[in-house]
Amino acid sequence: MSYDTDLQHFIDGAWRSGEGRETFTVVNPVTAGGIADLPNATRADLDEALAASERAWPEWKAMDVDKRATILRKAAQLLRERADHIGAILTQEQGKPLPEAKAEVMGSAQLFDWYAEEAKRDYGRTLVRPAGQLSRVIRQPVGPVATFTPWNFPVYLLAKKLAAALAAGCTVISRPPQETPGCVTEMFRALADAGLPRGVAQLVHGEADLISRTLIGSRQIRKVSFTGSTAVGKHLMRLAADSMTRITMELGGHAPVMIFDDCDLDKTLDMVVPQKFRNAGQVCVSPTRFYVQESIYDAFLKGFAERTAKVKVGDGLDADTKMGPLANDRRPEAIEKLVGDARAKGARVLAGGERGGAFDKNGGFFFQPTLLADVPNEASIMNEEPFGPVAVTRSFATFDEVIGEANRLPFGLAAFAFTENGRRANLIGDLVESGMVGINSFAISVADAPFGGVKDSGFGSEGGKEGMESYQVVKAIHQA
Ligand code: NAD
Repeated sequence: MSYDTDLQHFIDGAWRSGEGRETFTVVNPVTAGGIADLPNATRADLDEALAASERAWPEWKAMDVDKRATILRKAAQLLRERADHIGAILTQEQGKPLPEAKAEVMGSAQLFDWYAEEAKRDYGRTLVRPAGQLSRVIRQPVGPVATFTPWNFPVYLLAKKLAAALAAGCTVISRPPQETPGCVTEMFRALADAGLPRGVAQLVHGEADLISRTLIGSRQIRKVSFTGSTAVGKHLMRLAADSMTRITMELGGHAPVMIFDDCDLDKTLDMVVPQKFRNAGQVCVSPTRFYVQESIYDAFLKGFAERTAKVKVGDGLDADTKMGPLANDRRPEAIEKLVGDARAKGARVLAGGERGGAFDKNGGFFFQPTLLADVPNEASIMNEEPFGPVAVTRSFATFDEVIGEANRLPFGLAAFAFTENGRRANLIGDLVESGMVGINSFAISVADAPFGGVKDSGFGSEGGKEGMESYQVVKAIHQA
């Protein structure tokens, strides 16, 4: 399969590349070999994009909402039609198995469809006042938006921001990760082909620091939405403070999974193991800290290890691959360190535990699907987000103990529990400190529900009506 895309910026309705810009080499994580040269945006590109974003905003926000919705729905249709093509590019840039890549594109199309409809239901409210007076509350688009998104779900995580911001009537400048520029470029091609007016959505590739400082520090950008690590999120918050720019922060997690002894163990294992190794564990809501009730701990470990050994690792383009390589050379190194530290502190390795192994013939970024047991809280992996194919497990005795463990870390993005006890399920929903809770389910990232964290996992929501509200400002209008 060829890497069929032309890596270009999309600025003020025009595609641009080359022309002496410095380049970044995009690599295929299966081989670590270069597949394309990505032109980096210059300061002049960014200034042009900022000016175009400001110019395009008045017309876009004033456009009849049905017309705006029609363009978004057309973009959704084009994404569906092109899912095979965009999915293949995504797999070659990022490593995930092709069916996962195509599903990501289809899920992104769904976001554009959902927000096309949500834009029409943006009702304000009227307050109770004496006859003849009127007080109303309306929401209006915040203005030009800058987005910064990561490489783990490069299409879907950007679609969440783009669909909601465009539906709200904002213009957007997006900086995608350098690792995965092609699939994002193709999403912008779909938006352009759907008839989006020039300057409404613009794409600038390149160096993160230059782009974030320039956009966030500019007079034009009124809102920043970031998905990525907590460390970079805090840095961008500091930049945003200087320009009093509104922000949404979707940051890392370290999701606890509470497995109670009344769950259906086989069914639970059949769900949790593929979910752990989906996208090689590079998922902000990946199930990671498994707390298993004492009486079923050994059976859980046995079933988990057996299923882990069967996860087929390889090139995401191969039909039987269930887990691809990690996305970049930083990840295998980081995982190796975390696993080594856990081992040294007494954890048992029940599956995997090594880089690449048999799968790493070409020098790619592979790490084996790994299961660690009896991991002590002092191990770094119990405290830092592993963002890789590692399940860490330990046993618990009581409900209060496991809730304490779930809430122990500064993260609070997602939490999961497996139990058939309804009262316990209700309590977990109330007591766990996280933005999303999945009970006997991992379906927590959906178009119609808010998605976002608490504590160090960030703030603000994406998805649902809350996602659109994050691109709006509120105004109260009083008339006597
Ligand atoms: P990183 O912190 O260097 O980068 C994270 C993302 O932010 C990348 O897409 C990067 O291009 C972007 N970025 C980095 N510096 C930036 C800047 N100054 N301005 C704007 N954007 C900037 O991390 P990484 O090595 O790519 O990934 C490491 C960790 O990040 C992972 O272990 C994981 O914890 C976290 N992460 C989280 C998510 C998520 O979905 N929440 C996604 C990717 C990575």
